[in-house]
Amino acid sequence: MNIAIIGAGIGGLTTALFLEKLGVPVQIFEQSSVIKPIGAGIILAHNAMQVFDELGLKESITNLGNPLTSINITTEKLEIIKKIDTQHFDKKFDANSVAIQRGVLQEFLINKLQTNCLHLNKKVIDFKMGIKNEVVFSDGDERTFDIVIAADGIHSIIRNKAFSKSIIRNPNQTCWRGISNTMLPMKFHTELNEMWGEGSRFGFVKISRDEVYWYALHSSHKRLEKSDLLAHFEDYDPIVSNVISKTELDKMFQSEILDLKPIPSWFKNNVCLLGDAAHATTPNMGQGACQAIEDAHIISHYISKYDPAIAFSKYESLRKAKADMIVDMSWRLGSISQIQNPFFRAFRNFAIRAIPRKYNIKQSEKIYQLAELYNNS
Ligand SMILES: Cc1cc2nc3c(=O)[nH]c(=O)nc-3n(C[C@H](O)[C@H](O)[C@H](O)COP(=O)(O)OP(=O)(O)OC[C@H]3O[C@@H](n4cnc5c(N)ncnc54)[C@H](O)[C@@H]3O)c2cc1C
Repeated sequence: MNIAIIGAGIGGLTTALFLEKLGVPVQIFEQSSVIKPIGAGIILAHNAMQVFDELGLKESITNLGNPLTSINITTEKLEIIKKIDTQHFDKKFDANSVAIQRGVLQEFLINKLQTNCLHLNKKVIDFKMGIKNEVVFSDGDERTFDIVIAADGIHSIIRNKAFSKSIIRNPNQTCWRGISNTMLPMKFHTELNEMWGEGSRFGFVKISRDEVYWYALHSSHKRLEKSDLLAHFEDYDPIVSNVISKTELDKMFQSEILDLKPIPSWFKNNVCLLGDAAHATTPNMGQGACQAIEDAHIISHYISKYDPAIAFSKYESLRKAKADMIVDMSWRLGSISQIQNPFFRAFRNFAIRAIPRKYNIKQSEKIYQLAELYNNS
């Protein structure tokens, strides 16, 4: 049985690591000639870190990043609207939530591959599903595989070629991400703060001794230069202008926010979708990569035990409802976090503050709890 993973993002790499660990041979094909980190930093929540624990990588990843003790939603002046004490979950799940530079994480995962399975510069340009799945690469190479796992992101060519038409949604929000060379005041060292202003948001978190990962979202498609960005966030706490101004131009970039409207099924014959290819979500809950990492764990377990039809059906029934729920919750969170009307903003902040802590904990636990793989195997 020969297996191809298309795409060496966080989802594809984690799947390859699990399959290797389970002794299942796999080849992974990536279009880029070098692995470029998509984005600047990333938060790996407790669910992702529990999965990395299964791979024996939890301690190393925690040490490469910055473990967090709280995630705060605040006003633009840094007044707390909601504080999530992540230490509660550290105890419950025996894992931290970690902020890390994407490049560092991806390089680490690649270095952990045991076999020579990663093929760079292999862009898939055509695909035909069949008893033997035919994959055509841009360098003229054509190969067949028994199983294809499409981990090729939101615009997945495999999904577009082999599945019925899917809908990419655009919430009309643009995102800036960057890495700033600055040291935050001590009190922010283990916190992620996301500030909600008028029609915009700004988040920042320490990822290494003197680096801060930040993201800024605003409700439009306008291209902004660094100076526009500084002007746009001038009403925010001064920490924002400090973080933006200490960011070199080549360490900041703008991208559109998109998601994939939940699709009816993640597999067809011997072809299966994983990560953003299956369930790309808006970044509002910081769960896109975490969900891809959960997928990797489950799909590889089932592939190692069953024929593809059973493996994929078990994978979908264990994973799809949760991933779809996150896509949906994240979409709704995106609209309430960037409300412009001052009255509705005040009401929203009041309502969020009034949510009992117990309820918040229960909701987060639902997301961080991994599926009970071994009872469902
Ligand atoms: C602003 C923002 C912030 C985010 N923050 C977080 C966060 O804090 N925590 C979190 O968990 N998630 C976060 N996410 C989501 C996260 O980035 C994605 O969900 C995650 O990267 C998806 O991983 P993936 O491996 O499925 O896909 P991708 O990362 O998109 O990787 C797909 C890979 O496939 C390759 N590829 C594509 N097409 C082809 C082809 N034709 N042939 C060969 N290779 C191909 C690509 O080059 C790429 O390497 C954020 C997203 C955004 C936009």
